[in-house]
Amino acid sequence: MVVPGHTPQQMQAAAESAAVAPVLPAERPRPPKPRSRMMRQYDLVERVRSYNPDTNEDLLNRAYVYAMKAHGSQTRASGDPYFTHPLEVAAILTDLKLDDATIVAALLHDTIEDTEATRAEIDRFFGPEIGALVEGLTKLKRLELVSREAKQAENLRKLLLAIADDVRVLLVKLADRLHNMRTLEFVPEASRRRIAEETLDIYAPLAGRMGMQEMREELEDLSFRTLDPQAYGVVMQRLDALADRNRNLIGEIESQLARKFRDHGLTARVFGRRKRPFSIWTKMERKSIGFEQLSDIFGFRVIMPDLESCYRALGIVHTTWPVVPGRFKDYISTPKQNDYRSIHTTVIGPGKQRVELQIRTEDMDQIAELGIAAHAFYKDDIGSPTELLKRESNAFAWLRHTIGILSESANPEEFLEHTKLELFHDQVFCFTPKGKLIALPRHANVIDFAYAVHTDVGNSAVGCKINGKFAALSSELQNGDEVEVLTSDAQSAPPSAWETLAITGKARAAIRRATRTAVRDQYAGLGRRIVERLFERTKLEYADDKLKGALPRLARASIEDVMAAVGRGEIKASDVARAMYPDYKEERVVRYGAKKTAAPAAKAAAPTAEPARGAFAIPISGLNSGLPVKFAPNGGAVPGDRIVGIVTPGEGITIYPIQSPALKDFEDEPERWLDVRWDVDETTPQRFPARIKVENVNEPGSLAQVATVIAEHDGNIDNISMSRRSPDFTELTIDLEVYDLKHLSAIINQLRAKTIVARVDRVNG
Ligand code: MN
Repeated sequence: MVVPGHTPQQMQAAAESAAVAPVLPAERPRPPKPRSRMMRQYDLVERVRSYNPDTNEDLLNRAYVYAMKAHGSQTRASGDPYFTHPLEVAAILTDLKLDDATIVAALLHDTIEDTEATRAEIDRFFGPEIGALVEGLTKLKRLELVSREAKQAENLRKLLLAIADDVRVLLVKLADRLHNMRTLEFVPEASRRRIAEETLDIYAPLAGRMGMQEMREELEDLSFRTLDPQAYGVVMQRLDALADRNRNLIGEIESQLARKFRDHGLTARVFGRRKRPFSIWTKMERKSIGFEQLSDIFGFRVIMPDLESCYRALGIVHTTWPVVPGRFKDYISTPKQNDYRSIHTTVIGPGKQRVELQIRTEDMDQIAELGIAAHAFYKDDIGSPTELLKRESNAFAWLRHTIGILSESANPEEFLEHTKLELFHDQVFCFTPKGKLIALPRHANVIDFAYAVHTDVGNSAVGCKINGKFAALSSELQNGDEVEVLTSDAQSAPPSAWETLAITGKARAAIRRATRTAVRDQYAGLGRRIVERLFERTKLEYADDKLKGALPRLARASIEDVMAAVGRGEIKASDVARAMYPDYKEERVVRYGAKKTAAPAAKAAAPTAEPARGAFAIPISGLNSGLPVKFAPNGGAVPGDRIVGIVTPGEGITIYPIQSPALKDFEDEPERWLDVRWDVDETTPQRFPARIKVENVNEPGSLAQVATVIAEHDGNIDNISMSRRSPDFTELTIDLEVYDLKHLSAIINQLRAKTIVARVDRVNG
């Protein structure tokens, strides 16, 4: 190693005169002491010795000097000597009371990447355990941090894989990020945002999942301040004002609570704690509320000597003050996934204030604040930190589980899209009947579970049992639920409504895919029947091969595509016939039972390109599937009309508008009446048949004028028949296609406005 041309003494003197990292103005329960000068070797050793009397002072001293020499005259963006950074990172880790190897790794964490130091040399000087930690940190540093989603996902994957070997890599990495966030103001604007976003997306949630609440909160607040300084300022201002106004009240509540416990022979440590700006902000955003209540900004901690007195304290609180319903949670008997344990309750306490209480023991408090870092790695008898955490920490089990999933998933983009949120928000852990663990985001239901097990299980799910009891597929899952999904081969595709029920991206995507395929298959089947029928009737020979040759003429890629298009009504069966047999002549089809009178003007106005609608594609719900559906032959029906369906055995269902006089004919046969309603897809406008009668002045060009009005207002004329009522007036019966009732009314009104038009009425067949 090449030592830069500075003596350690010179370096230290330079470092001591350097400015100090700014300290976040937010309150912290146990803030790291602001250091007015760079920490000396002696200070660092003292900090470690205060919690670990067996510390290897020589090792710490050697690492201190080695790192200082290695970084030499390098400086940070702030102008400080670079060495202040690893030193601060080490100091943060002494606040977490970590073992010597972690502290030393923190001191050395940037040496391999940024200086002449090598892994081999670090192994030689400090041993392979520390060498491996430093190398893990070096790998992480080399990840190019860019905000592109895929890259971020890949970084997260690598981060998790790197910390799989030794969780202490994560602890150093988090401390590293925390110090960088504390000194972020010196970094150029553009990278500042990116770093803050990454911190909020990845590092803060990860700290939270490891139970390290203090770390998570400070990372969140620092990111919040960077990303939205205005909102941060507003929240801080309001917090200060409210805290100021309630200053006496908080002390009063603390002492009243403590006195109450003392009266019952319990010694408790009680303290009020202001909530953090970022958590208040997200709560305000999520529930779109302001904060006025003391309980919205202050929580009270009650720390008891042992577990039993936690419950006694709860009893005292609940018998002394009225309980706010729905706020009691016992995380002592059922700890959170990150090992958090505490009793939560809210009462109308002293001063008629809502008081939010967290009751727990000192040990639980340590875990609540420090998470995995609360386990004393430095003690001799624990074995390796990994072994200790395997024994004692659920948070660590989660981490290992997640890493397991990550090493299997190949596509980082997919991973980020479908898993990022799921990874870092509270999860539920459920089991298959065979005991396989399925991790899902909170509020997930059985549909999500089924798709998490396997797409086929999801697609064919018809029912379920949760913990042995039958339950709805939409049931929200709880931690520890054992879920048995009942499947049926008869269900080839999931109901499309599941898409809105499922909450995981994976399930939603699978449902979308399956329903798309199923709908397409349905249309293709329908189209095939329509085509076959035409070929039978016309005595033409149908063969797939022949159709294959005609695909280019139909501009479709496959036979299935053609059939689905016919089923959807996009192309007609006769188009298919003509594509296969160019001299095929279309037979006349009589529509709606009306005689087609070929009025020349009408023909000109009616765009013939408008696709014929397949009778089966009528968007009506409330029907038994499988029956053919058509509209009332004389007048049709359009969305906006109230409608009924009339069943004709052997034929199918006819849809009538409720005002149709034709319904009189079915009054004696109520069993034929069906309750139906429109089920129109707003995104793909469709046209529907309607009929109007127009009385107009009999003069040359009047028919053309009527047709023009309809065409100009985007109505399709399907048919026009004419009859002369008197020498002066002609009555036109016009079958047209419109989008809905509003559209139809607009056309009728436009016609009525014409001077040549005497009268316009809708015809209901
Ligand atoms: Mn660093």
